Formats: sequence, C-alpha cells, structure tokens
Amino acid sequence: MPEPVIEIKDLKTYFKTPKGVSKAVDGVSFSIPKGGTFALVGESGCGKSVTALSIIQLVPEPAGYIAGGEIILNGKDIIHLSEREKREIRGNKVSMIFQEPMTSLNPVFTVGGQTAETIMLHQGKTKAEAKAAAIEMFEKVGLPGPAELFYEYPHRLSGGMRQRVMIAIALACRPDLLIADEPTTALDVTIQDQIIKLIKELKESMGTAVLLITHNLALVYQNAETVGVMYAGKLAELAPAKALFRNPMHPYTVKLLRSIPGQEKRGKALDTITGTVPPATSYPVGCHFSGRCPREMEGCAAIEPLLIERAKGHFVSCHLHDPDFMDKPYSRPLRHEPDVMPPLSIPHDKRETLLEVKNLKTYYPIRKGLLKRVTGHVKAVDGIDLTVKKGSTLALVGESGCGKTTAGKSIIQLIRPTSGEIIFKGNDLTRIDEKGLKPLRSLMQIIFQDPYSSLNPRLTVKDTIEEGIRALKPGMDKTARLKKITEVLERVGLTPEMMWRYPHEFSGGQRQRIGIARALAVDPEFMVCDEAVSALDVSVQAQILNLLKSIQRDFGLSFLFITHDLAVVEYIADEVAVMYGGKIVELGTTEEIFSSPRHDYTKKLLSAIPRLDPGLISAWRLPDRS
Ligand code: SF4
Repeated sequence: MPEPVIEIKDLKTYFKTPKGVSKAVDGVSFSIPKGGTFALVGESGCGKSVTALSIIQLVPEPAGYIAGGEIILNGKDIIHLSEREKREIRGNKVSMIFQEPMTSLNPVFTVGGQTAETIMLHQGKTKAEAKAAAIEMFEKVGLPGPAELFYEYPHRLSGGMRQRVMIAIALACRPDLLIADEPTTALDVTIQDQIIKLIKELKESMGTAVLLITHNLALVYQNAETVGVMYAGKLAELAPAKALFRNPMHPYTVKLLRSIPGQEKRGKALDTITGTVPPATSYPVGCHFSGRCPREMEGCAAIEPLLIERAKGHFVSCHLHDPDFMDKPYSRPLRHEPDVMPPLSIPHDKRETLLEVKNLKTYYPIRKGLLKRVTGHVKAVDGIDLTVKKGSTLALVGESGCGKTTAGKSIIQLIRPTSGEIIFKGNDLTRIDEKGLKPLRSLMQIIFQDPYSSLNPRLTVKDTIEEGIRALKPGMDKTARLKKITEVLERVGLTPEMMWRYPHEFSGGQRQRIGIARALAVDPEFMVCDEAVSALDVSVQAQILNLLKSIQRDFGLSFLFITHDLAVVEYIADEVAVMYGGKIVELGTTEEIFSSPRHDYTKKLLSAIPRLDPGLISAWRLPDRS
C-alpha cells in the first residue's frame, strides 16, 4: 500500500452561530495514498466542502474553527502551523479547484500572468518558459485560442472558461494533494471528460493524491478508488468504490444511489429521500439520518451508531449492521418503508403534434465602428426543424453555446426569431404581433436553471405567482387567484401557508418548485425546461424530475427539455434532438439516439458521459434486519 499523502483523523470543524455551535464536520477520518483518488459524496450541506476547507486551512474565521482531530500531510500535522507555513502549503503542497472560480482569480491580473507566475514559483521556470507552459496548460484544459486568452482578464471570460483557468493553475502547481470540489459541474460533458483525463495524468505522472468532491456518482464510480458517503457532518459509509456501488450498506447510500436518473429507470419514479439535511446546530444525538431513514428503529435517534467494518475496508455507520444493537429491545422498527420504486406510467395515447418548428433562424447582428454598422451575424440558431408532440418530452441537447437556450426562448417568443415558422395550435407565432401573442403566452411557459435569480427577492411567493396570473389571465378575480395559488403550491409539494414567505427562506429544490408552480398557475400546455434540474443535488433533482413527470401525466403537458445532462435525458425524454453550432445534427427517439447514434458529434457526446454499470442497479436494496 503506498504511503498516505494525507490522513484525516477524527476531524471536527465547528462554527459559532447565533443559534449555537454548528458541527459542520463532526469526527471524520480517512486517508488518501500517493496517486489515489478519494471521493466524498453526499447532499449539499453535509460537510463535504468544509472538510476540504479544513484540509487546505481556509476555514472562515473567526466563526469557524477546527475543534479537534488531526490533519497529517506527508507525515506532519498541519493544524497547528504558523500562518506563513500554512500559506506555503496552500498552492504548493495542496491546491484546490473551487466551485466558484471568480472568487479565486485575481481580477486585476491577466489569467495568463496568474498562471505563468504559479508555474515560475512551483516549477522554477523562466518567464518565457512559464508563458509557454501556461499556454500549453490552457490548451490541455480545452480553452479556445490559448495564446490570445493569455492576455485576458478574468471578468472577460465565461464561468466555464474561468473554471478551466483555475484548473490549469491548480494542476500547474503539481501539488501532492489536489482537492477538486465539484470541479466539472458547470462544464460540458466533453470538457469534463478532458479535465478528468488531465487529473488522471497528473496522478500517474506525479503521484498526486486527489480528493474529489462531487454529486456525480457515475464520475465517482469510474474515477475513485475509495468513497466516503458523508451525511450531516459524519461518514455514513466508507468503502472501496467498486464495493460501495456493488453493495451499498447504509440506507442513506442506497437512497442516494437510487435517486440517480438513467435509462434503466424510465417509466419508474426515481427514489427520493424525505425531508432535508437537518441544520448542523441541531443534529439528533444518535444517528444523524434518523428522522429521514426508511429503516429507522426506536433507539436510532438516541444512540449514536459506530463506524463498523463489515467487509475488508468497507465501513458502515448504521445500527442495522451492529449485532449488539440488534439484540436490544430498542431495535424495534419505528418505520419500515416498502423497498420498491413505484411505477410512474405516462399515457402514450394522445400523441398528436402540439408544436412544429420549421427552418427556425435566430441571428444576432455584430456591430462595429463608431456608427455601429452591422458587419455580420452570429447565427445562434441556424435553420432548425423540430416537432413536439402532445404529452411528450423532447430533449434538446448539446454543449454550452450551441444555441439550445436561444432556440427555446425563440420558440416561445421570448426572443423574436429572424425567420422560420413556429406552428402552435394552428397559429404561426412568428407572424403574430405582441398583442395577438398575449392570449397564447399563458400556454407556453419556461422554467430556468437558477430559480433564485428568476424569482424577485422582494416578492412573496404569493405575489410572484399572482403577478403571472394577473398578466396572463386578467379575467381571474382575487378569490379565484388565491384558490389557484393554493392549488398549484399543493400540486408541487409545498404547503399553502408558504405563499407568505420570501424566496430566500426556501432551499434550492423548493425554489425550483416555486418556479414550476408559477408556470403551472397559468395552465400551460407547453413548457420549456431550461437546465431546470442541473443545479440541484441528485436527491432533490430526483424529486423535481418525479414532479415534472407526474405533472405531465396529470395535465398532458409537453416539455422541451434543454439540458447538457444526458443521464437526465435518458430518463425523461421521449425524443432527442442533438444541437451543434446552431443546427440540429441528429434527431430521433431516445432509444435510437442512445443505442445507435449516427452523427460523429452525438457519438462523441455519448462516449464522454461517465456511466454506471447497469447491472449494479438491481443490487441497490435497503438493508434488512439480519
Ligand atoms: Fe440510522 Fe437507524 Fe437508519 Fe441505520 S437504521 S441509518 S442507525 S436511523
């Protein structure tokens, strides 16, 4: 066994808050050997990122502090080092790819300058050599025009490009330990693939140890040797990756795995976990998963489970696996939910055409010079044909910048297209003026990726939903509006009294439900879902996908599902259109596209998706009393 680069022993990282001590990380232990990858998975708010910040010694002070444990890097405990020594470790021995790259790039220096400086510092190269190495690194992380990009400032780059610059800097340091916190979440699948290969190269050539934090479980399956499943500040399960995916032992792990969408789960509801992770100031005294666990026993909430080794290297923290606990009277089941994924059948009888898009083009003028003369056009959407059938889902897939979002907005006339026809309920939308469009607008709705930015923070949920109803259903009186708001909130799984709250009082998943309720309130027939589940945790994503499917079943709604997540497409879509450079390059049923893609671009896209072995899924069963 290679020597560990990093050993975390009983790490406790707490925060002082007005509501008491928040135990974000509460006794976590693991180690990563040279050249190894350890993945930390779990829902948001489970303590994964705080674990990473503790290792890199960036716990936000004064509220946050390491309350106990050891962090041993290359044999040396680093918790009690001086600030200068800690700075030397950061970026030199340990580097981190953060989720939000803007905060870690210096806005006043060019991205090339920042990368070259890191290379000079860590690899002892001259200025000219460092510049060449930086450009090479930019190329490796898939940045377009790396030589020109060298002189750009961070604010002039897109989020995905900044992320890749950050990755280039982190890798250029050649650290002993690389912490990658959701490194590829915002990136297209082919770029993600490229980055993962780069990290692998670094591991193999330099023996770098990698701590991978991600909610992409297929990525974990393919890239990590060991996995820690973190729940509410503790490790629920710790195992070699293949063993964990073959035989998950903790109820939380099973539920998490079963919430991943995919082709094998088509027609079934995805598994979900009831409730949310409790606040770190009020974890139960015993098992932190009690309250949400489908196998909870009488003593679970009061007695803390130990992390028990059930097979070689496979540890689980659940009383169901502890023979001593199971002998006691308080092992009586408090809850025993059925272990089935309920079917979710969608009637396939009403399949007439709802919407037809013919040769749709949306061009943006490029203006130059003092007089802002039009010198050319960006052909965002360049002659696409699509048909959306009633009660079905058409997925529009492709990488960032391929024109998917512009196409979606053009179809529902949020952007007026340059030419083409959009036939919806016998009307060509492109030929109708704004006044004529008004009665049709309520029938076509859109939900966005980031529900927070699409909700006005100053409006209550009631006002938000009512605003849409007033604009699009002017004939509805106050009582009818209130009744409608109550109905849609209940339909999306929220309670009516939540209408008096503001967006910041909700979680990400709840805010997406509000976005769906707002759209549903005006009785749409067609809904564009623009990356509607991309920003959500896998367990919350499962709830929203189930919700969208059940709404489709109950109301016969049609969806245009814009996404770059092909696992979601495989699960939810009836048909798929693959878009590249403003054009549709392939169109077919989901089965056709996934089983026998014909276009090279589709093949490239599909081969880049990290996948789980389909045979594994049937093994994901909740543990039973032994
Ligand atoms: Fe926790 Fe009990 Fe559920 Fe095991 S069975 S995860 S100990 S609540």
